[in-house]
Amino acid sequence: MPLTFRSAGATLLAATALTLAACGGDDGNGPGHADHITIADTAYQFVALGQNHLFTARVEDADGGLVRRAVVQWSSSDPAILRVNGDGLATAVGTGTALLTAAAPGVLDTVPVVVMQAPALLTIVFGDRQSSNPGGTLPTPLTVQVTDALHHPIPGVDVSFAAGPEGGSVGSAVVTTGFEGTAGSSFTLGAGTGSYTATASVPGTALTASFTLRTAGPFDLELWWLGPAEPAVQQAFADAEERWEAIITGDLPDDYALISAYSCGVNPDVDRPLDDLLIFVTITPIDGPGGVLGQAGPCYFHEVGGLPAVGSMFFDADDLAGLAQSGQLEAVVLHEMGHVLGFGTHWSTLGLLADPALQGGTDPHFTGALATAEFDAAGGAAYVAGAKVPVEDQYGPGTADGHWRESVFLTELMTGILDFGGTPLSAITLASFADLGYTVDGTQAEPFSLVIPAIQPQGVRRLPLGRDLLRFPPRRLDRRARIQPPYRPPTGH
Ligand SMILES: [Zn+2]
Repeated sequence: MPLTFRSAGATLLAATALTLAACGGDDGNGPGHADHITIADTAYQFVALGQNHLFTARVEDADGGLVRRAVVQWSSSDPAILRVNGDGLATAVGTGTALLTAAAPGVLDTVPVVVMQAPALLTIVFGDRQSSNPGGTLPTPLTVQVTDALHHPIPGVDVSFAAGPEGGSVGSAVVTTGFEGTAGSSFTLGAGTGSYTATASVPGTALTASFTLRTAGPFDLELWWLGPAEPAVQQAFADAEERWEAIITGDLPDDYALISAYSCGVNPDVDRPLDDLLIFVTITPIDGPGGVLGQAGPCYFHEVGGLPAVGSMFFDADDLAGLAQSGQLEAVVLHEMGHVLGFGTHWSTLGLLADPALQGGTDPHFTGALATAEFDAAGGAAYVAGAKVPVEDQYGPGTADGHWRESVFLTELMTGILDFGGTPLSAITLASFADLGYTVDGTQAEPFSLVIPAIQPQGVRRLPLGRDLLRFPPRRLDRRARIQPPYRPPTGH
């Protein structure tokens, strides 16, 4: 039994010297000389792209003694599937099978390595919270993405779609995921009104995702309360919400809201599908009783069509109770929601505001053809004092350039001053939303006619809304934000 280096010396230095001496000899099989190498794993399976595993190998001499000085070199038979660095740290970069080799001078060992992607996550990317008419097919296919545990998309996975117990039907019962790991099926609502559900699942796994669908008007305005509110206040908001949903009859393209906290007022992080308009509502002290009652505006716009998708409304806590008591709250809320929908806040972007007062203009006016026609029809044909449709030129930033001109429109809801005793939402205003690109139901307009020249009614209490336009930097949503991009191996090594 030859001496091993372990027993040959009492110190590491001595052991090292002996190992070197043995390696330098000519016998080729002596103690300390590499005789074979063994990778610790006899095989290995990766279940996600980007997954790492540290392989180790042991080089031994003919007697099973560890050859400490042996330099092990690692390699992969297919670097498009498996990469390995000099320390044996391997990374799965593509699906398939590769051989991993550990080599020391004169010896080598290989193990088969399988890289597959096990479905670990099923995420809804489009189509949740949609609505259509009874019996109607939803505008956006129910779409999910299948990814591995490291969020890398998996192509070629069968996804099953099924209607819930409420009825309705899916267009395709089984759809195979494509390059981006997504699969989608159309969905047709049943004849009954109300809520519907549908599920997507990956057979053979516990992965499932549920869609909530419904019959309703196609335009969905959603309020997101950031804090508590009195029931009367909530009711006023719900009434205003219902009103706008009845006025706007066209669905907007589905989108995905991936927006960061405080990017639209005091909102939290948002990471979810969006259809059609989400409004954050904040009730907070602004400037005491009177003054600013509320402020509102859009901050994110739909990628397709460019209409507002996310906005914010702030209401002065010191004014709410008084407004609710006097019955004016719903009118104020309706007015502020109009700003989030784009009234006065989305005009310049679309080139529909001419001669703006805040840029030195003297006769700001809205140039939309539909609103101009309704203005003429309501009595404005006799208006010769300036260009049509006249926009507010007074009261400074926050009011000017974003409301109908009070001196012409008087009681109309979308002037900067609220008139107690009736604030009609006119066909002119509804037409202005059609000019922005909305589909509107003109029959929802309230009776309103212009008197030219206007005569301010006496004895009517008037309430300036006061600097209520919120202007955020306009940003577009990215409807593909939810889709994880295809995996690309890191470069540089
Ligand atoms: Zn306003």
